[in-house]
Amino acid sequence: MPLTPDQQQAVANHLKSRAQPPQCPVCGAANMVIREHLTLLSTPDEDATSEPLINVACKYCGHVLHFSPSLLGISVE
Ligand SMILES: [Zn+2]
Repeated sequence: MPLTPDQQQAVANHLKSRAQPPQCPVCGAANMVIREHLTLLSTPDEDATSEPLINVACKYCGHVLHFSPSLLGISVE
């Protein structure tokens, strides 16, 4: 369930509204890119439902940040 281009734009708008500009916490570069594919973290408890996470990657050093779709108001179902 990849993000649509509209959803990727919504994530970009969200980040811009809360960080000017969104910066990598590792290297400080400001060229973050919203990845199309989501990450599903596995947990030892199979009954636990964890939502897939949005990946925002630093194009300079490769560090990846995870964001919660539900807190951003984005439906990924
Ligand atoms: Zn970086």
